[in-house]
This record gives sequence, C-alpha cells and structure tokens, in this order.
Amino acid sequence: MLMPLLPANYLPVNHLPRVFDADQRYTVDLHMHSTASDGALTPTELVKLCAARGLTHMSLTDHDTMEGIEEAGIAAQQAGLCLVPGCELSTRWQGINIHVVALMPGGLQGPLVEGLALQREARIKRAEVIAERLEKMGLPDALEKARAQAGSDRPLGRPDFARALVAEGVVDDWAGAFKRYLGSGKKGDVKAHWPEISDAVAWVVASGGVAVLAHPLRYGLTRRKRGLLMDTFQAAGGQSVELVSGQQNPDSTRDLARQLVERDLYASMGSDFHFPGSHAAPGSMSLIPRTAAPPIWQHPRLVHLRDAPSGMLGPGS
Ligand code: AMP
Ligand code: MN
Ligand code: MN
Ligand code: MN
Repeated sequence: MLMPLLPANYLPVNHLPRVFDADQRYTVDLHMHSTASDGALTPTELVKLCAARGLTHMSLTDHDTMEGIEEAGIAAQQAGLCLVPGCELSTRWQGINIHVVALMPGGLQGPLVEGLALQREARIKRAEVIAERLEKMGLPDALEKARAQAGSDRPLGRPDFARALVAEGVVDDWAGAFKRYLGSGKKGDVKAHWPEISDAVAWVVASGGVAVLAHPLRYGLTRRKRGLLMDTFQAAGGQSVELVSGQQNPDSTRDLARQLVERDLYASMGSDFHFPGSHAAPGSMSLIPRTAAPPIWQHPRLVHLRDAPSGMLGPGS
C-alpha cells in the first residue's frame, strides 16, 4: 500500500510532552520581537533564525502590534515550523508597567482588534509625553531624534529614546539611558496611557486567545506581591505565566513554579529575543524544571500545537 503523501514541510510528530517531568529544554519559544516593534530582525529573518536554531514552535510577540504576523506566517510555512500569532501588551497594575503576552491561535480577531488600535494611539501619545520630559532634561527635539533612530513610521518605544540619548552623548550607553531616564520609576517611564491589566486580559480571552503574564520575575516584586499580581491576572481570565523568560536563577524558577501550581496556571516559556549579539537568542532560555504546572500547549485553545504541522497555527488546524 502506498503511504499518503505528506506536504514536504510537514513535521511528522513533534512530541511535545504532556508534562514537564525533567529539567529540560524544548524547541519552543513563545516570546520574541521583530522590526514590527523594537526588534532588529524582520519577521522573515527572525523565522529563518528560529528554524536554523532548530525550533519547531515559535510565537512573534511584538509590543502592542500584530503587524508582523502575516509576513512571519509565510516564512514559517516555508521554513517548516509552527507559528502562533501573538503580541505583547503593555498594561498597568498598581502603578507598575506589566506586560501580558497574547497568544492568538485564531489570529487577530474580536475585541483585541479595537484593543490594539487603542494601544497604538496610547503609544503615540505616550511618546509625545516622554519627548517633552526628555527635552526638559537635556535632549532637544527628542521626538524627531527618537523617530530617526526607529528608522520607520511605527509607533515609538522607549528603546528608540534610549538610542537617541546615546547618539546625542547624553548617556554613555543603552543601560545608562534606562537607569537614568527611561527605566521603571524614572521620568521617561510614562505609564498613564496603558490599560488596566484586567482590561487587556479580557480583550485577549474574549478574542479566543491565551493571556500569558510576561517575565514575572522582572518587575522587582516580592514573592507575596507577585502572588497578588497573579491573582488579579487570573481573576481577569489570564490562563498562563512565563515560568521561564530568558536566563533566570533555577531557585527562583522552582519557587515561581510553586506559585503556578497553587493556582492551576499553565506554564509558558520564551527568550524575549530582540536582536542578535545580545545575551538572548531564539530558544535560549533556562531549563524548565520538573513541575506539576501544565505546559501551555496543554491548554484547550493551544492543544493542537503539540502535533501541529508547519505554517500559521489556526484554530483546530
Ligand atoms: P516600551 O514598550 O516602549 O515601554 O519599551 C519597553 C522595552 O524597552 C522592553 O521591551 C525592552 O525591550 C526595553 N527595556 C525596558 N527596560 C529596559 C532596561 N532596564 N534595560 C534595557 N532595556 C529595557
Ligand atoms: Mn522590547
Ligand atoms: Mn516585556
Ligand atoms: Mn518582550
């Protein structure tokens, strides 16, 4: 009997496990950026790099936009890997800028369409406020200078202002720009324009997506306060937390895993890759520990990821 012909780019079985039963790495990266926001690679270049590094599943999660997804989907089809459409939403919780990764197996649809339009407006208005503040602090024509650094007409982010501060010699380097002007609690860290975390999570969930609390160890919260954030996030419909984001301390990871297990939250993973030559590369994360927290691909909305063929991941595809 002849075997049925499979498309050339079909990945036969990816064997994503149903549980995390050993300290291990996986060929999955669900948090990365492209030139559609503050990443250095085009969506096509990013997908090719992921394929070259042996990833089987990836998500493109640009800040507050899904403009890069269509291009990434075509590249993923060609490269033979599975792309989950996504984005990373800027939100507010108790005066802190909290990021929520939206994984959207059905693509951009539902209330998230309007949500991303609001985020775009918020980002444009916020850039004007950041520019005004930096002008008072010694960077004349800040908006124009950040725009020149962005090199395209996308809405600006703090990294564009960071590059402008470096280029004008106001600070020595990128780290100094965040430390003195743009980082958490500094004048250029303008948050007022972002939605409440609960509203952003509601957009994602009502649009067929899975909301993932991004890099929970990076907000400088105590364990107790991180738990409160996770409670608020979950009460709004949030389903998952990044158990591993880039490189992190194994003890912190195990501690975080316990907080997921206590709440029945799914565990996600991502490098938060932005540009080659940095500490991060696609798929380069700390080990996922043995834990009872279920892998995010066990969530009913993403379970077809486990043995998905290549290309854009659609609902039930
Ligand atoms: P925005 O989306 O405009 O609020 O900018 C946030 C982005 O700035 C993050 O996704 C990082 O790419 C970068 N960023 C934020 N804080 C820092 C920091 N302390 N050091 C370096 N980059 C940072
Ligand atoms: Mn970024
Ligand atoms: Mn982030
Ligand atoms: Mn990110």
